[in-house]
Amino acid sequence: MRDALSPVLEAPRPAPSVKTMQAFVMYGIGRVGLMQKPVPEDPGANGAVIKTTHALICTSDTHTVGGAIGDRKDLTLGHEGVGIIYKLGREVHGFQEGDRVAVNAITPCYKCESCLRGFPSQCSQMLGGWKFANIKDGVFAEYFHVNDAQANLALIPPTVSPEAAVYACDMMSTGFIGAENANIPIGGTVAVFGQGPVGLMATAGARLLGAGLLIAVETIPRRKELARHYGADVVVDFKQQDPVATIRHLTDGSGVDSSIEALGAEHTFEAAIRATRPGGTISNIGYHGHGDYVGIPRIDWGVGMSDKVIRTALCPGGKERMRRLLRLLETGRVDPTPLTTHRFRFDQIEAAFQMMAKKQDGIIKPLILF
Ligand SMILES: [Zn+2]
Ligand SMILES: [Zn+2]
Repeated sequence: MRDALSPVLEAPRPAPSVKTMQAFVMYGIGRVGLMQKPVPEDPGANGAVIKTTHALICTSDTHTVGGAIGDRKDLTLGHEGVGIIYKLGREVHGFQEGDRVAVNAITPCYKCESCLRGFPSQCSQMLGGWKFANIKDGVFAEYFHVNDAQANLALIPPTVSPEAAVYACDMMSTGFIGAENANIPIGGTVAVFGQGPVGLMATAGARLLGAGLLIAVETIPRRKELARHYGADVVVDFKQQDPVATIRHLTDGSGVDSSIEALGAEHTFEAAIRATRPGGTISNIGYHGHGDYVGIPRIDWGVGMSDKVIRTALCPGGKERMRRLLRLLETGRVDPTPLTTHRFRFDQIEAAFQMMAKKQDGIIKPLILF
């Protein structure tokens, strides 16, 4: 994966006369902190600059700092942020400076061959739709730049709070694609492995799509509680029960129609394959950040002939996706805000980041207020 990603674009150094801002950066593998950077004043013809108001720290930010996608130098972290338009490129229509907008974590160009083939998350190259805090500065700064803004900005409806809208940037989009890709029949049986913030949104998505029996696998008490809140009928605590045996028992021995892997660990991926019935679908949204291979249990895979489908996805981005997610917030179908367990001011972000990296104090999502 490391080789497939582009080298980072170096951030320009601030000249003395340039207006500067605070940014929370990765200095290099394992090293983070606040630094001064120039405010991106020029949006470019097709871009926009957003004044950040709210952001969320993601576990994948901690993977990045750990070196999961290779080294980066002074790269601004963060890919879940909302704010108001500060500068708008002259070719960007339908928006005005001052509008409240949400921008997905994934910002495809919508012009390249991959985008035109219908795979915008794989824009230009594998995982290439992922630009923030990967190949360009991310959203943990007082201002951030958005590429291809016409396709990537979404207005936040007046009745939707920014605290809710910021969940559309990644948690809802990724969790819901996990459910959408799982091919859930109305009334079908679904297992969701892992009830972190993405897994919880996958549970909420499976419920919205009409799961008839929804089984969540989790051991942390607060997450188990939220799994029920978002629609799980049964929560299997893997420290007390064998999840695969329990899921088979709950489905008359056959396994579920659909499994969603929302953790990114080999044992849960294997369990998802075992717990899915022949002809069913295993939908992976977990970030497999370690090792060179992910194993498939050969016998439970029907020695390669079980009609079990394995699907993968990176968070779908773009304005139209965001509009639909924001509509769910507007109509109250989903409320992601119970995922916010902690709040920090931007100048406290390093403490929030360390807390997220170590998963301290029952943290699920820390909200950063600018
Ligand atoms: Zn994220
Ligand atoms: Zn593209």
